[in-house]
Amino acid sequence: MKEETRLTRAGRPHDGAGLVNAPVERASTLLAPDSKALYDRPQGRSRYARGGTATQDALRDALCEMTGADYCALAPSGLSAVLLPLLAAARAGGRVLAADCIYGPVRRFLDEALPNQGAKAEFFDPRIGVGVEALLGDDVNAVLLESPGSLTFELQDIPAIARAAAARNIPVICDDTWSAGILMKPLALGADCAAQSLSKYVSGHSDVLIGAALARGAFAERLKETEYLFGLHASPDDAFLALRGLRTLPLRIARSGEAALAIARWLEGRAEVARVLHPALPGHPDHALFRRDFTAPCGVFGVIFKGWDRARADAFIDALALFGIGFSWGGYESLAINCDPQIKRSAVPWKADGALIRFAIGLEHPDDLIADIERALGRV
Ligand SMILES: *Cc1c(COP(=O)(O)O)cnc(C)c1O
Repeated sequence: MKEETRLTRAGRPHDGAGLVNAPVERASTLLAPDSKALYDRPQGRSRYARGGTATQDALRDALCEMTGADYCALAPSGLSAVLLPLLAAARAGGRVLAADCIYGPVRRFLDEALPNQGAKAEFFDPRIGVGVEALLGDDVNAVLLESPGSLTFELQDIPAIARAAAARNIPVICDDTWSAGILMKPLALGADCAAQSLSKYVSGHSDVLIGAALARGAFAERLKETEYLFGLHASPDDAFLALRGLRTLPLRIARSGEAALAIARWLEGRAEVARVLHPALPGHPDHALFRRDFTAPCGVFGVIFKGWDRARADAFIDALALFGIGFSWGGYESLAINCDPQIKRSAVPWKADGALIRFAIGLEHPDDLIADIERALGRV
C-alpha cells in the first residue's frame, strides 16, 4: 500500500469497541490483578504509565510504520527527542561529530552540556560526504546530521556518511524535522536513528510541543534504555493531537511544499533577491542529493536579500501582513523570521551577500502570499 493509505490505518485500535481513534488514556498507576503480577512485565512493559498508555502506543506504532523504525521513543519536545539519542550514544572521553548546520539549541547543548558528561562535540562541513571518514576514530560516539539544516539548507549525503560510520560501528543520528519523516527516510538511507520535532508538520496546528526519536537495529535497544533512565514522557493529550495530525500530514505537507516552491521560484526572479535556499530548486548546490533522497519539497526555505542589513530585513518582515513573526513551522499559518541573529558556525563560515530570511509556508493560497511579499518589497 502507498504511504497515505498506510497512515490512515496505522496505530488504530483493534479492541472491538468500534472507536476510529485510540482514546486519550490518562494514567500514572496501572493496577495489577494481584501482588505477584505487579512485577510481571506484560508485553515487556512496566505497570507504570511513564512508559505510556494506549494513546502513546498508537502514536509510536504509526510513527514506526511511517519511518521503518524498530522503536519509537516519545519526548516532551523535539529538542529533547534529538538530545535523547545523543545521550544514549555519548561516552566520557568520546567525541560527537555534528554537521555545522544543526538546529541552534542542539548545538548549544553540544557546546555547553555535553562537556559535563565528559564528551565533546566537533563540527564538520555539512557537505563533507565521504570525507567524514578522515574524522572518524575509535573515540567517536555518534555522528549527528540535520538534512537540510534548518537555517542554511545544506543537505548531507546520508548514505555516504552512514557507510563510513557503520564500518566503525558508530551510530548516525539524523534530525529530520524538515522532512517530517515522510519526504525523506533517514533510516532507509542508513541512519541508525531519526529524531524529529512533532511540534512542526506532524502536529501541524501550532498548538503542541512533542518529539520522537526513531531507531532501528542495535541502536533501538540503547534508545529505549536511555528513554527509561531519563524518565522521558509525552502527555497522552499531546500524543493524541500528534496522531490526529499524522493522518493529514501527507496532504498538508504536499500542499505547503508545492506552494513554497511556487513562491521560491517567484522570489528567484526578483531583483532584490541574491539567492533562494530551497534544495528542490535546480540552482541549489545540493539539488542532485535532493532528487536522489527526497520525494517532494517541504514548505520551509530561506532567502538571501541582496545587500540588506538586519534593519531592512526587520522592516520587510514587519511590512508583511499574512506572515506571522515567530519560531517553529509546519502549522497552517505562514511565518517569516530574520535568521541572522541565530546563525552560528565553526567549521565553515556562513557567507551571504545580505540578510537571510526564512519563510515557512502554511496553507494559505500561494497567490495571496506572493501578493503580500510583493507589497512588502514595495514598501521597503
Ligand atoms: C523545532 C525544531 C527542533 C525542536 O523542536 P521543539 O519541538 O520545538 O522542541 C529540533 N530540530 C529542528 C530541526 C527543529 O526545527
